[in-house]
Amino acid sequence: MVMLGKKEALEKLAEQISHCRKCPLYRAATQAVPGEGNPEARIFLIGEAPGFWEDKNGRPFVGEAGQILEKLLDSVNLKREEVFIGNVVRHRPPQNRDPLEAEIKACRPWFWKQLEIVNPKLIITLGRFALEEFLPQEKISKIHGQKRECLIDGKKKIVIPMFHPAAVLWNRRTQISLEEDFLKIRPLIKKIN
Ligand code: URA
Repeated sequence: MVMLGKKEALEKLAEQISHCRKCPLYRAATQAVPGEGNPEARIFLIGEAPGFWEDKNGRPFVGEAGQILEKLLDSVNLKREEVFIGNVVRHRPPQNRDPLEAEIKACRPWFWKQLEIVNPKLIITLGRFALEEFLPQEKISKIHGQKRECLIDGKKKIVIPMFHPAAVLWNRRTQISLEEDFLKIRPLIKKIN
């Protein structure tokens, strides 16, 4: 059996995701948004679902929420190219509605496979859907910015839940919290990266 390197394994996975028909979301979408980033990333960020611009470009977080995310990354001296960015679902839900339980379930194996390949030390969840993948009993309003540990495939990972960057577009207080939460984890990021 030929063992693929991380880069090749991620490319192969992205190719499989691009043909995924496990839920109906692909029908209204332009293309899949498999996720992207550094195969050796120590930090894995996971959002909710592609929006309009992500759907057009096939890349995660390239619209307004992406600009906010890049500023947040910049505030902790991180560049997009250093991290890996994925989403809970890989095709845009029509009119950007919330992803349905069945859609999330169908997309879940892709996400776990990607996580297994990248094998990051720190996972930053963006918004409540990503949080639910790791800490389903928790509420984002209660634990945002706090460090938690999860055992994934027998490996200990740090999980830090954050508000979704798009949430700051309509709530100034969320914006302040999100910025503060990122700044709070700067020492941790410095240590890990
Ligand atoms: N919001 C998300 O959750 N993911 C994206 O890729 C873009 C916006």
